[in-house]
Amino acid sequence: MKRKTIMLSYWYNLLVILLPFNAFSQLNEELIIYNQEINPDSLKYNVEQLQNFGSRYAFNPNRVEVSNYLKNRLQSYGWDAKIDSFYMENFEYPYYSGIINTGWQYNVVADKIGTINPDTFFVVGSHYDCYASFDTLTYFNNSPGADDNASSVAAILEMARLFQKYNIQPIKTLRIELYAAEELGLHGSSYAIQQSHYRYNEHISAMLNMDMIGYNPDTINADSVRLVYYDNSQEFTDFCEQTALNYTSLNPIITTEMNQFSDSWSYYSWGRRAIFLQEAYLHPFYHTSNDISSTLNYNYLKKVAQLGFSITYLASTTNQYYPVSTNEISLQTPSNLKLNSNPVKDNIKFTLSNPKRENLSFQIINQMGEIVKEGKLSNHKTSTNQYQIPVQNYNQGIYFLKIENLVEKVVVVR
Ligand SMILES: [Zn+2]
Repeated sequence: MKRKTIMLSYWYNLLVILLPFNAFSQLNEELIIYNQEINPDSLKYNVEQLQNFGSRYAFNPNRVEVSNYLKNRLQSYGWDAKIDSFYMENFEYPYYSGIINTGWQYNVVADKIGTINPDTFFVVGSHYDCYASFDTLTYFNNSPGADDNASSVAAILEMARLFQKYNIQPIKTLRIELYAAEELGLHGSSYAIQQSHYRYNEHISAMLNMDMIGYNPDTINADSVRLVYYDNSQEFTDFCEQTALNYTSLNPIITTEMNQFSDSWSYYSWGRRAIFLQEAYLHPFYHTSNDISSTLNYNYLKKVAQLGFSITYLASTTNQYYPVSTNEISLQTPSNLKLNSNPVKDNIKFTLSNPKRENLSFQIINQMGEIVKEGKLSNHKTSTNQYQIPVQNYNQGIYFLKIENLVEKVVVVR
């Protein structure tokens, strides 16, 4: 008998070693119930309501209506939603068209105040604007943006509904942000984080961004989702991955690929931890008039919405999961990077005020996320705070100039 006990214990220990670490951790039972409530029909309704605006191009006059609609939807779920507007001045779009756009942009913001740590924030954000930039003549018109990015806004509205239905109270302050003018260079999120950083000095524990989450043509493999992360966010990324494995049937793909192409980049640029959820196969007709509701897979959208909800729920209502409420925060104080002109032809000329060090390094990154050039800024100094990097050999297109945590979008024209 003794021998048998030993054998049992041996097998038991072996079993414990072989099982994944999380097999014995307690799942949150409320969350499992709430997730079942996320409804593909609600998501579809939300997408179609946004699509029905015809276009949500950032400088179309209907941006006032769109933002008010979103504000009202959040208010209808009991959220204290507001418009937070910012001004865009002399913005040339389409690039080099001579069309100068100036006007107010309208972010929609709603806070649910934390019951225990009200001054610690968890942000879930998605852009609501869109354009059909690949349909050159009608870029501002006829851009339904069902996948890009009504899909994510739909998921956030569904989240807001669940918080009301089950009277879910976050312990950290949960902030919803629906951004304007993402397509023209992450303007809404950039404004939002700068307000938070400079004006209110808020402690943001982490930011979850969703952008294009409703398209999935793959019927053979398990549904996959991209968890696009940043080099300051490894622990938060692990938490999001574990949440996907525990609470959804999605297969998470962890990557940094193209992490500068959506609003989480703004948060990362200002030193905040962030993650970006995106479909594994990009919608083939995004940025065209064919990005329409009937091309979406609402069962897939439901799963990604469940993941977004699960991350948001665990990160804002519990302290047993990362990110916990602490006061530590890695503020990267940016000095100011200003392009002297944009678009550029031969040289990127810029001003960098108060550079911390002389030997700052820079990178130029193309739209595919590839570094096309890097070096030391000291080699490109022309006078006090003035720099010049030659780009004569570059193809026409959009690039990003990155200096430490500062990033500017540069348009090279030929
Ligand atoms: Zn988008």
